[in-house]
Amino acid sequence: MPPIPGSGLAKGLAVTLRTMTKKTVTAQYPDAQPELPPRTRGVIGLFEENCTVCMLCARECPDWCIYIDSHKETVPAAVEGGRERSRNVLDRFAIDFSLCMYCGICIEVCPFDALFWSPEFEYAETDIHELTHERDKLREWMWTVPEPPALDPGAEEPKEVAAARKAAEKLAAAQEQAAQEQAAQRQAAEQTPAAPEQPARQEDEGPAE
Ligand code: SF4
Ligand code: SF4
Repeated sequence: MPPIPGSGLAKGLAVTLRTMTKKTVTAQYPDAQPELPPRTRGVIGLFEENCTVCMLCARECPDWCIYIDSHKETVPAAVEGGRERSRNVLDRFAIDFSLCMYCGICIEVCPFDALFWSPEFEYAETDIHELTHERDKLREWMWTVPEPPALDPGAEEPKEVAAARKAAEKLAAAQEQAAQEQAAQRQAAEQTPAAPEQPARQEDEGPAE
């Protein structure tokens, strides 16, 4: 059946009228800040204390836009007769956000929780080189990372939290035991009778008449 002349125009006008009566969804950015979900992928923050320079993130990044430099340092043995250890020390950690495609693979693969998403997105630059964020800048982004959502009631305690809690309990028990031992030693010292004074030596008194 051939289309009725003017039906396309009527449909178009109907869509226009429907849309005109709906609430607008256009955000007046930058006058009004958008309400972003808390886990928005805005920029990546680095918590470098957790980074062991394992290079997994740099190797897995599909865009090869993570740059890491490091050197090795020898750590002396913790106990006498123990072995020296070597550890990686981070010299450079940078992400080129002009290449990054915000896939999140680096954050997923990091085994030590050193990378996090921040919802901050206002870091546009007029010079593309400025989009390579070095470790200091990545660290500043870290402080804009939102708190993780609360655990479900009855959820299993995360193993990191359990390990930290056990370590804190062990330390507190050791400190309490040391305090008790000190108190016992003090008490024992107070109860010990003082030694009697020695009589003065005869020679000191001079010859007897
Ligand atoms: S988000 Fe993806 S592209 Fe961006 S740095 Fe991480 S792995 Fe690379
Ligand atoms: S994967 Fe994590 S620990 Fe390894 S180099 Fe990257 S940020 Fe550091």
